[in-house]
Amino acid sequence: MLQDFSNRLDCLGTETAFLVSKDASEFASKGNKIYPFHLGDININTPFNIIEKSEIAMKEGKTGYVPSEGIPTLRDAIADKISNERAVKLTRDNVIVQPGGKPVILKFIHCLMNPGDEVLYPNPGYPIYESQIEYNEGIAVPYSYNSHNDGFSIDQIQLERSVNTKTKILIYNNYQNPMGSESSKEEMKWIANFAIKNNLWVLSDEAYFNIQYSGTPRSIISLPGMVDRTVILYTFSKTYAMTGWRLGAAIGPKSIMKHFSKLSVNDESCTNHFIQYGGIEALQGNQEGAKSILNKLRSRRDILASKLKKINGLNLFVPNSTFYLFPEITEIYNRMSATSYEDFRRQTLLNTGVAFCTREHFGRVLKNETKKYIRFAYSGINIDQIEEGIDQLSNFWSKL
Ligand code: PLP
Repeated sequence: MLQDFSNRLDCLGTETAFLVSKDASEFASKGNKIYPFHLGDININTPFNIIEKSEIAMKEGKTGYVPSEGIPTLRDAIADKISNERAVKLTRDNVIVQPGGKPVILKFIHCLMNPGDEVLYPNPGYPIYESQIEYNEGIAVPYSYNSHNDGFSIDQIQLERSVNTKTKILIYNNYQNPMGSESSKEEMKWIANFAIKNNLWVLSDEAYFNIQYSGTPRSIISLPGMVDRTVILYTFSKTYAMTGWRLGAAIGPKSIMKHFSKLSVNDESCTNHFIQYGGIEALQGNQEGAKSILNKLRSRRDILASKLKKINGLNLFVPNSTFYLFPEITEIYNRMSATSYEDFRRQTLLNTGVAFCTREHFGRVLKNETKKYIRFAYSGINIDQIEEGIDQLSNFWSKL
């Protein structure tokens, strides 16, 4: 008989949004209509100029291995973009190209965390943080958010209480998945000072930095004392609708980038060669495609938010960034007499075809939580489906 799988696997989580997909597909296979608000994928094509540049590169034979750090021209292009947008001075030595944004999380943890080290991470938050910390034998210490009429703010008291001599890393996701929340200037300053005071490394997950419907985004790396302790998770996935291309980068101090590079050699060898030429075009070529993606998302957000706001028992803050809405639905949950988040989600799906994630899909639910939340992603659903789906939802919930 073969021996058992590793014990570590028991600590590995997943993106449970994919489990909602499975449920939704099963429901659809029985001839039912589905309204997909659950996955953070984008049903908008990658801008054609990006596709074209990658295709040319492929036809020109740019199909072999490249340095694990990425091709120099793309590293330069990323360094320029980040330097200009975040008002810092970076060069290609601060950039390691990656197959997407997600690998930056694992590699950052591998570079810094020893078993038993504590990592502060947002909860609700992107579920891969918790999964990777625990899989790699660290202690995942969640910090949460307070809700206000005009959004969410980081629970600073809880953060202060959670830090100790074993804390080494703070994961910070401004323009946040799933809540769409963003830090005020004061909050970001507070987080930077907190990291400096406690001598923490910071992973700044900036996956949604360029999904802004108005105003100018801010990065924690721009604040005094942060450039030497921060690694940015950068990705092409959202801004340029390139989720399936797998192109991103780790951006940070040279001292840590050399270890990222070594991890890349050991892991994927290099990021896909010809796709990196598409990345250069995305950053330096015509920006009409990216603008059009943003305009489409904005229209979807506005329609979805205006329809959701009319639903009795639902409280909504409308974020200026990301492509998520995170309404509070406690009253509806109670009216349904739902026995769990899963019960609430499934009953709604089976009665309306509307698929969404719940708070439970974004890190373990904390003991003191009393309010219930769900997440709508509007990146993978067209306006007519949004309208139809929310009408179904509203109808069902109003009868409870
Ligand atoms: N970080 C956050 C907060 C995300 O929401 C996502 C994807 O949904 C990622 C990182 C990973 O991005 P990528 O698709 O580039 O790996």
